[in-house]
Amino acid sequence: MEYQSIKSVAQHTLTDMKAAMWAYPWDLLDEGVNTVADQLGAMGVTEINLATNYHSVQTFLPHNPERRTFFAHASSYFHPGEDYDDVAPIPNETMGDNDWLEQIVEQIQDTHLSLNSWTVGCHNSRLGMKRPDLTLESPYGDPLVFGLCPSNPAVQAYLRNLVADLDSRAPFERIELETFDYFYGTGFGWHHEKYHTRLGALGEFLFGLCFCDHCRSNAADAGIDVASARETCRTTIDAIADGNFDSERSVKEWLADHPMVADYIDVRTSTLTSVFRLLESAVTDAELGYYVGFFGVERSWMHGADLDALADFVDYYTVVAYESSRDTAVEQYQTATDLAGGASIHAGVLPGHPAVHDEETNSEIVRGLADAGAPRLSFYNYGLLPERNLTWIANALEPYSR
Ligand SMILES: [Zn+2]
Repeated sequence: MEYQSIKSVAQHTLTDMKAAMWAYPWDLLDEGVNTVADQLGAMGVTEINLATNYHSVQTFLPHNPERRTFFAHASSYFHPGEDYDDVAPIPNETMGDNDWLEQIVEQIQDTHLSLNSWTVGCHNSRLGMKRPDLTLESPYGDPLVFGLCPSNPAVQAYLRNLVADLDSRAPFERIELETFDYFYGTGFGWHHEKYHTRLGALGEFLFGLCFCDHCRSNAADAGIDVASARETCRTTIDAIADGNFDSERSVKEWLADHPMVADYIDVRTSTLTSVFRLLESAVTDAELGYYVGFFGVERSWMHGADLDALADFVDYYTVVAYESSRDTAVEQYQTATDLAGGASIHAGVLPGHPAVHDEETNSEIVRGLADAGAPRLSFYNYGLLPERNLTWIANALEPYSR
């Protein structure tokens, strides 16, 4: 205990832990980049993770000087370049001829802030609705429009070209990737999801397991009886829906009993590793980061991500530790460290609803992650948090400011 507290003091005084803030372009442009930079500077924040390509969103903006809400379709916040193949981002229509990214790049260079790209990949309902041939396909053959399938070569090219475009158009210090994986799930909002059947973790996972032409063909090439794997998934989901199979059955245990489906999943994990190799080759100077743990970092494999293997192609992971206590945040951080094949682990913190409701808890989480060795924390998010919560961040970072 004695040693622990000395070590802790040493970390507090000598730390070079960095602090970043996620932000939307409208947060910066409505308030003014300089004004935001001044405020963040006073808080000890030196980096902006700026949304550049994003899923559809309806925001509530408690301290925005121009509005209280903003809706955006899935879109890019810049006008994409020429170097795309079959699929390109759709620029946000409310920008008009403006280019939000360009405006911010221009204005931010006079501030102390460095700029990172917060980049959403496969979760894109607009592209999914426009191009159902690119989406995940349920074991029943239904397109899941919220997610593009990374096994599809056109999607792979899109993800690669998107990263290359961002890398070349702005002096990003970091390009951070969100949902560059087999995104699935029944509750991410905006589609007014109607699930009045308890699928549980197992049913939800199997329902989101992609059986598109490319996933099936990759698995067939690996010698897997795809038709049989798909039928197994269907009958299990139907049995869960009928109440004839335990929806809370552990996914890992179920897979141990169904090795053909486990093998099918392994193929897409290899596919995603090759996609990350492609992404790494598209970046010249920026550091490449990948967000893990939206649904628990231990479940990364359920999105096709082998963190040990992907560590060869990214500079760091940001573990999304939107937790309500120091202990659970540190636990997520440690789990990510254990899984990450030596990659550096940064952490994301949500000092607001629904995770954190008081200043002390936020300070405890920040201290816990710092003491666990996090070299950098990102806070979620500038425009969404009330002013009061921004003060919590400033106070929590105070021991780490030089
Ligand atoms: Zn697929």
